[in-house]
Formats: sequence, structure tokens, C-alpha cells
Amino acid sequence: MVVGKKFVLVKNFVGEPKAEDVSLQDMELPPVNDGEILIEAEYLSVDPYMRPYSANLPPGTTMIGSQVGKIVESKNAAWPVGKRVVGNFGWVSHTVVNPDAPAAEQLLKIKPYLLPDMGDLPASLALGMLGMPGNTAYFGLLEICKPQAGETLVVSGAAGAVGSHVGQIGKILGLKVIGIAGTDEKCKWLVNELRFNHAINYKTENVEDALRKAAPNGVDCYFDNVGGELSSIVIHQMKDMGRISVCGSISSYNDNLVLGQGNVPKATIIQPAMVFHQLKMEGFIVLRWLNRWQEGIEKNLKWLKEGKLKYKETYTNGFENMFNAFVGMLKGENTGKAIVKV
Ligand code: NDP
Repeated sequence: MVVGKKFVLVKNFVGEPKAEDVSLQDMELPPVNDGEILIEAEYLSVDPYMRPYSANLPPGTTMIGSQVGKIVESKNAAWPVGKRVVGNFGWVSHTVVNPDAPAAEQLLKIKPYLLPDMGDLPASLALGMLGMPGNTAYFGLLEICKPQAGETLVVSGAAGAVGSHVGQIGKILGLKVIGIAGTDEKCKWLVNELRFNHAINYKTENVEDALRKAAPNGVDCYFDNVGGELSSIVIHQMKDMGRISVCGSISSYNDNLVLGQGNVPKATIIQPAMVFHQLKMEGFIVLRWLNRWQEGIEKNLKWLKEGKLKYKETYTNGFENMFNAFVGMLKGENTGKAIVKV
């Protein structure tokens, strides 16, 4: 019998997640029956959504998340040993699953799928640019901001998985791109390697002044990963008919405000900017484009192969370090996609 490991939520997070809120446990795996496969995790994703979505899970639940794993035993001819699988199996080292069964009623209702041919690119990209974050950048920018060449785009959370990707698509489309991120190193990477026009360190600079300098004529599109005061500052510098794609709100994820929980926080008044500049603001969940999922992946793969998109991954080694990687990502220790390598 195979014995794997899993991370279980033992206490709902309050504020910043703490080590004692989760526990690393052994798990015995059932035998592999007809139609099933046994997968060994190779790369696991830690993502911001795990914080708000875990807030209301019953204690005892395995932490949610996706991974790339290798098939190590198979009783399903279409899923042979040695192939790689992408699946939402949670924070687990091993999984027995029937990959042909309907997608479980889980957060990401995506059935497991075989890793597509990615050439020499690392398999872990299926959790980043060639996976959910990549499609978030692609659809969230194109479908909600509907940017036009020559316009000015501001991206917050700009050096992370989604933000660094959004800004690069902006450059591909001929936009002026301004990123906002939390360290000088991240800002240098955005400008020197990803060809962003400007980058602002929100922790050390006066964002209002720096943005006025970088975008003296105002902002057309704002791709918002962080929310809060920072976003209000950007919204107050938008042009007439500007568009705001509300992708995430990481600055408030530790406040348990999501889905009607917690008290309504005080916020800067943005309505005058919305009214008098006729702005459009729309939130989204990337699963809205589940029926176009493959289109996003193929487009991003093409851009990667053409060298138009560059990627960075911040690796944490060891399954047992999942929790540290998760909290580190929430605190900004990652540049590009945060990945755990087993
Ligand atoms: P990132 O790789 O961007 O990692 C999170 C980053 O957020 C950190 O590196 C940190 O960078 C930044 N951050 C943390 N706290 C704050 C804060 N208080 N203010 C500003 N920045 C902060 O994660 P992802 O790219 O995976 O996700 C980015 C956003 O997109 C998240 O809000 C996430 O929830 C959202 N998202 C939404 C989806 C959707 O369907 N709507 C799908 C996928 C992601 P720094 O050093 O710059 O502070």
C-alpha cells in the first residue's frame, strides 16, 4: 500500500495563516481499480485564492490546489504510466483517481488532463503561464479591458504570476505599460527584462506622484490584482471611458471580507472618478472562460515559443514546505509564479 502525505486545514485562518492552522499528515491510498490511475505529485501550485477560499472550509478538509504529477500506476489505457497529468487534487503527494469521471463539485471544476506537448518548456508552466494564471491574464485583460494599441495600462501585483503576464501581453499589443510591485528588484525585472515602460515600488514610493509622472495623460486600462487604497489611487488617475479589470484583491485577503463575511471596510470614495470619467469596472472569475480554456493556453504557448512572453518561477523545494511557500507568496517573496517542487 502506498502511503502519501497531505496538508489538512485544522483551524480556519484568521488574519495571516499560521503554521498551526494546517497539519501535514500521512494518508493511505486505496488500491488502483479498473479505469483509475495513481499520480505522484511533481509540482504544486500555491495561489492567493487559497486564502479566501479556505476561510470557510470545514476543518479536516484537505487544502485545495492544483498540481502537475506523473502517472506511476495505471489501469486506464488512455492514461499510461510515465505521462504527466494536471489536476486539482489539493495539497497531496499522491492521488488515485478515475480521470474520466465527471469533474468533482470543487472550486476549479476542471477535469484532470494530460500535459500538452510544451517542447523544452518546464512542466511547471502548466500551473502558471500555461494554466489558470495564464488564462486569467489573457482573458481578464483582453475581454474586460479591451485594450487598444497606444493606450496606457497599469497593472498592480505586477511582478507576480498574473501581473507579469498581463503586462507582457500589454506590450505585445502595443500599450504603454506601468507596473506596480513591492520591491526594487521586482521593478527592475519588469523594466529591464519584461520591457514594461515604468515600474513603481508601492512600498517605498509615493504612488500618486510616481503614477502622475509615468502617465501624465492618465490611464486607460487598469488590471487590478490587489484592491484597496492603491487601486483607489490608480482609479483617480484614469481617463474618460477607462476600463478596470478587477482580478484580485490580495491586500484584503487576510481580512476575511470575501463572500459577505466580515465587516464592510472603510474605502476611499471612487464614485466621482467613476461617474465623471465614465469608467467601467468589472470583476471576473477566470472560469467564466472555461469553454475557451484551450484558446488561452495555445495563444500563450505560441507567444512563449516566439520569445514574446518571458516567465520566471520562484521554486520552494519539498512537499513538506507547501505552507511556507503559500505564506511566502502572500507576503511577496515570489517573483513570477510561486511553485513547490516535490
Ligand atoms: P502573485 O504571484 O501575484 O503573488 C501574490 C503577490 O501579491 C505577492 O507576490 C505580492 O507581491 C503581492 N501582494 C501581497 N500583499 C499585497 C498587498 N497588500 N498589496 C499589494 N500587493 C500585495 O499571485 P497571482 O499572480 O497568482 O495572483 C494575483 C492576483 O490575481 C491575486 O489577487 C489573485 O487572487 C488574483 N487571481 C484572480 C483570478 C480570477 O479568476 N479572478 C485567478 C487567478 C488569480 P509584492 O511584492 O508586489 O507585494
